Amino acid sequence: MSATTNLAIIRRHGDYQFSEPPTTSADYSFVAASIYLSLELLHTPHVRQCLARQAVQYDQSLEQPGWYGRLQEDMTLSLNLVDSFLDAVSTTFPLVCIDETIPTIDWLADHPRGEWSGIFNPRAQAVCINARRVDDMVASATSPDSVNFRIFQFLFAHTFLHEVGGHMLITYLSGGRRPLTPPEMGHGLYGTEAGRALERVAFRGALEYYCDFNQDDHQPGIPHLLYENGTVQRISQAFIDGFTNGQIYFPYTMEGDVQDVNCFQPMGREVIINGLGLGPFTMSHSLTRGYRVRVDDIRRVLQDSRVRISAVS
Ligand SMILES: [Zn+2]
Repeated sequence: MSATTNLAIIRRHGDYQFSEPPTTSADYSFVAASIYLSLELLHTPHVRQCLARQAVQYDQSLEQPGWYGRLQEDMTLSLNLVDSFLDAVSTTFPLVCIDETIPTIDWLADHPRGEWSGIFNPRAQAVCINARRVDDMVASATSPDSVNFRIFQFLFAHTFLHEVGGHMLITYLSGGRRPLTPPEMGHGLYGTEAGRALERVAFRGALEYYCDFNQDDHQPGIPHLLYENGTVQRISQAFIDGFTNGQIYFPYTMEGDVQDVNCFQPMGREVIINGLGLGPFTMSHSLTRGYRVRVDDIRRVLQDSRVRISAVS
């Protein structure tokens, strides 16, 4: 990553109006930190390989060659294609919308897919993230031990991995047009789902956040991997602490026994936030300019959640 980067982070309110939080707000600073972690994760050799496998699987499902030609199961060609996608999203990260119209707690994010042709512009694509969960992350930062804050950073880094590496890669490969996700790209417990497929390939299971019954529903939940055979295992808190410090390695360190999924309650399953429906997303130029910020400032937020990011002119 270069010394500065441009990030466009907006908020959609319950009345469907947009606002643009300043870079010095907790919203902007904390979401920028999660984006930074997700880019670190996406650029690891392991995740790049996983994305290249997804691209090959997508390519094999096409009857006609894609805009990029044919991958012919060639992993080098596929990695080159994946790297061109990663270059694009790290140079200009997609528009991020902190979205109050996402109706339930467990619906973490959404990628409203935009058709594209010619030169891929990630800023013409969006990731909407759950505003209630962002608000909970902001509240968690005031706690002295910062454990929940680090779990929220881990949660949103993986949410961006799911949306960008899972779904937006398919937008990139398909031009945002049908056919989209191949039916066989998924996870045994979720069906066809490119984001879950990526989690399965990268981590051997899907990220789930289960209730800690000693905390209320503003908690992040306890991160687990859910395997296709219906068992789950907890991701070690020490690993999560290291991850938010930029120490990312594979496989993730787990702790405790492998258990049956039925012993756990997913965080916020169908807990209604509002009676709204997710609003249709229309891109507008005034929302997508973003602010240029220093990457060092973003890193400092991860060390100390009292740090805020200044815009660079
Ligand atoms: Zn998904």
